[in-house]
Amino acid sequence: MSESEVSGMVWGDYKNNIIEYVFGCMERSEFAPYICPECGQRSVHLYMHVHNLNTRRGGLWIWCSSCRNFLHSSHYIPLNWNNFTGVEPEKLSAIPAYLDELKVEIDMYLNMNITQINNKGM
Ligand SMILES: [Zn+2]
Repeated sequence: MSESEVSGMVWGDYKNNIIEYVFGCMERSEFAPYICPECGQRSVHLYMHVHNLNTRRGGLWIWCSSCRNFLHSSHYIPLNWNNFTGVEPEKLSAIPAYLDELKVEIDMYLNMNITQINNKGM
């Protein structure tokens, strides 16, 4: 059994342009969840977590709860983004199974902060 099958559902890799797509939605201040370019469902979520406050390097996750495509990468995290206290950092892994359990809270947190993020730019 591979790591991606632990939860019983297979996670697959999004194409790279999913980052541009989701950031584009955010720049237009559209609220999450976003429409998935793969399956058409409104179930795409985003979470960012700063690991280093000096360099602003951190992790970025974009995933679809419906078709289970996802992208995880190391990324520059905008200055106006603060880690969501509802996310326990030690539970984070490349596969967004844990984040998907918190998707409702994560969407609310992103939507609350979206204007602030846009003011600083990505
Ligand atoms: Zn999808």
